[in-house]
Amino acid sequence: MIHPVAVIGAGPFGLSTAAHLRARGIPVRVFGEPMVSWRDHMPAGMLLKSTPAASSIDTPQRGHTLADYCDAAGVPRLVTDEDIIPVETFIGYGEWFQQKLVPGLERVRVVSVDRGQGGGFELKLDSGELFTARAVVVATGLSGLAHLPPELATAAADGPTPTGPLSHSSQHHDLSRFSGRDLLVVGAGQSALETAVLAAEAGARVRVVSRGRGRVAFGAPPWKQPRLRPESPFGRAWSLWALSYYPHPYRFLPARTRHYLVRRVLGPLGAWWLRDRFEGRVQLQEIARLVRASAPHGGPSLTVLTHTGRTVELHGDHVIAATGYRVDIAAMDFLAHELRTELAVSRGTPKLGAGYVSSVPGLYFTGLPAAASYGPVMRFVCGTQFASPRLVRHLAAAHG
Ligand SMILES: Cc1cc2nc3c(=O)[nH]c(=O)nc-3n(C[C@H](O)[C@H](O)[C@H](O)COP(=O)(O)OP(=O)(O)OC[C@H]3O[C@@H](n4cnc5c(N)ncnc54)[C@H](O)[C@@H]3O)c2cc1C
Repeated sequence: MIHPVAVIGAGPFGLSTAAHLRARGIPVRVFGEPMVSWRDHMPAGMLLKSTPAASSIDTPQRGHTLADYCDAAGVPRLVTDEDIIPVETFIGYGEWFQQKLVPGLERVRVVSVDRGQGGGFELKLDSGELFTARAVVVATGLSGLAHLPPELATAAADGPTPTGPLSHSSQHHDLSRFSGRDLLVVGAGQSALETAVLAAEAGARVRVVSRGRGRVAFGAPPWKQPRLRPESPFGRAWSLWALSYYPHPYRFLPARTRHYLVRRVLGPLGAWWLRDRFEGRVQLQEIARLVRASAPHGGPSLTVLTHTGRTVELHGDHVIAATGYRVDIAAMDFLAHELRTELAVSRGTPKLGAGYVSSVPGLYFTGLPAAASYGPVMRFVCGTQFASPRLVRHLAAAHG
């Protein structure tokens, strides 16, 4: 019996990998909720920071770009750098891509992955089914990786919740629940700034609490980008161009440099179109350091150190931690304990070799968990263009 390849995840990376595998005629089973991170864990009304050129899901079959979807769905065609993509359009695109190229998607969770007897892997699904896969591709993206710094965790003894004093930005879809309330948003990246703007536009009084000075900044609009630098999906700069199109040598850089670049390159910077909506509508509180968060009588407060060395308390009705995501193999509890302890890791992230294979032959990682090996481009949809063909070529050669 020929065992299939299992792809765990139905976001852009899982769908792209599955489309490549199917195009090669490799039997594949794909698991997950299509585009769920975008539908349930990002705010309604959000606009994508990436440009249309950087927002197509890679596939070898022609006719499946974001622009092709716009034509098919009869929505305005998004092509130039000045066209801004509503999240609802992008979700529609992902679902259309799935229906056309990954029609057999199974909307079930993989509960466990373990080594199989006689090679391959044993998978258990939440439907109760057990089956053997010859190889496994982990494309679980942002799921379960929301990061809460320890200084904030003190205000949420039972973990962050949207109805408690403190939540993580990934727990919100509808920000209108904060209308008429005082909201503190911790962070300085696009997610923090856009969450703040959308909540303010929905009627909340919002203060963004940002560490450092001058960290809240917005990118230049396309018509003001320097012409003499090469174009990349993230703007014009030599560094961005190299990281976008030539991530091959990234995994040979020293571990310290790799982890630093993943965090810093393409780091906190609001989209150019957000500036006008932010200024005058959202308050900004720049602090030297966050000391702790507490919620003594329900309402949360943040104790912060100011740039003048004073300790002050900031009060609100709710705190949203827009503090991003952190890859940690320990949090991927669907991977059997033995498999996790066997995996070579670097600061919690899997160490990947050529073709996105981990130190366990047959076990592959793509998307965010691959960023420490292949660079910051793996955090974005356009990373599918580099990752999927290479991963599938390696998998086909080793297990095809
Ligand atoms: C607020 C915000 C804005 C962003 N904006 C942009 C942008 O403008 N442009 C851009 O390129 N990127 C953007 N990103 C990054 C973007 O989220 C990622 O690039 C992309 O979603 C990663 O896709 P993925 O397929 O790896 O994972 P995800 O989209 O997170 O999908 C994960 C999949 O895994 C499945 N899954 C998880 N666990 C299991 C399991 N045990 N069993 C079965 N299935 C499982 C889920 O059901 C889901 O289908 C943004 C991120 C955030 C948080």
